[in-house]
Amino acid sequence: MSLTRRQFARAAGLGAAASSLASGNRVPAQASDAQSRKLGYCIVGLGRISMDHFMLACKMSQYSQVTALVSGHRDKAEKMAAQYNVPTKNIYSYENYNEIAENKDIDAVYIGLPNSMHAEYTIRAANADKHVLCEKPMATSVKDSQAMIDACKAAQRKLMIAYRCQYEPTNLRAVQLIRDGKLGTIQAIESTHGFNERAGEWRLNRKLAGGGPLMDVGIYSLNACRYLTGEEPIRIEGYSSVIDNDGRFKEVEENLSWTMKFPSGVVASCATTYGANMPGFFRVHGSKGMIHMEPAFAYQGLHLKAEFDNEPPIDEPNNSKDPYQFALEADDFARCVFDNKEPKANGEEGLRDMQWMAELYKSAGVKLA
Ligand code: NAD
Repeated sequence: MSLTRRQFARAAGLGAAASSLASGNRVPAQASDAQSRKLGYCIVGLGRISMDHFMLACKMSQYSQVTALVSGHRDKAEKMAAQYNVPTKNIYSYENYNEIAENKDIDAVYIGLPNSMHAEYTIRAANADKHVLCEKPMATSVKDSQAMIDACKAAQRKLMIAYRCQYEPTNLRAVQLIRDGKLGTIQAIESTHGFNERAGEWRLNRKLAGGGPLMDVGIYSLNACRYLTGEEPIRIEGYSSVIDNDGRFKEVEENLSWTMKFPSGVVASCATTYGANMPGFFRVHGSKGMIHMEPAFAYQGLHLKAEFDNEPPIDEPNNSKDPYQFALEADDFARCVFDNKEPKANGEEGLRDMQWMAELYKSAGVKLA
């Protein structure tokens, strides 16, 4: 018998709070101290992911709240502070960011900056004795990723990378179907994720982004193939190209397609681009059935379909509304801090993706930052 979404969230260690968040309801905090506390997040970088998703998610979360802001734009920060009841004394600039060390309202930082800034602001947070939830990709190099892990370990602070799909019930359901053997032996996986990037974005600047669509959205396919199989690849090989010579791709790749072979023999075929709106999806082919999830990585509207040789098919749209995934992620990190647990998507998890991306760029002949 397949797990319901609620049973599945429980099985995944997210508990009743997670499944209730996923369905849009709030469960009152339990009586215990840990459960009635909220983790105070300092939001570093007031861009799209912070303002349109993570901060809104804190409002619907059970264990998370925004207590401080870091921005280079004082006006914007004051406007957001008013919306989130953040006192103006808790607004910082990038220059006086280290002073968060003195602020007891801040338990953790959430880093929503361009990729190449993640390492510096994580390390400065750890030195200020704060826990860190850092956006993906963790950094722009293996060396920086390791330095982030080392700094958080030395300060005895938690480090989590914001792989929201690893906390998302529909993705978790797909993983569980595979682990339960519903698909038989897995033979192959296909996955893509890409979009048509506008000129002028920092994502096209190698110094800020580290790389092109692989670092930004291809990482979802890479990470998914790893959590779907539960294996690390033994080989990864790719091809990159620039097709649109319109000035956007002087510093980063436009297209990257790759294959990964896993120890079980599964071969995954993936592609990413900044030159076309490519669906964020995966298909997993097994000896007894297949899963098709599309969208798989979007903020909402995820849709799981599965067909089996000897069982009725599954067709499960997820009707939870954005920013439910960010609320699950924020609260899971809060519980890791409160209960002194290692985050599932910890620094080492982010580092493994960085290592595979570095290998892939090497194989495709793309030079990293
Ligand atoms: P954005 O451009 O909307 O925001 C970036 C923020 O960084 C802005 O507030 C900007 O002012 C600030 N900043 C500071 N120094 C900067 C500089 N030198 N150049 C440019 N901006 C600077 O970007 P975003 O889409 O919010 O992405 C931020 C991070 O979040 C990236 O690492 C990205 O990969 C990640 N992200 C994650 C998801 C997800 O679903 N988890 C989705 C989108 C983005």
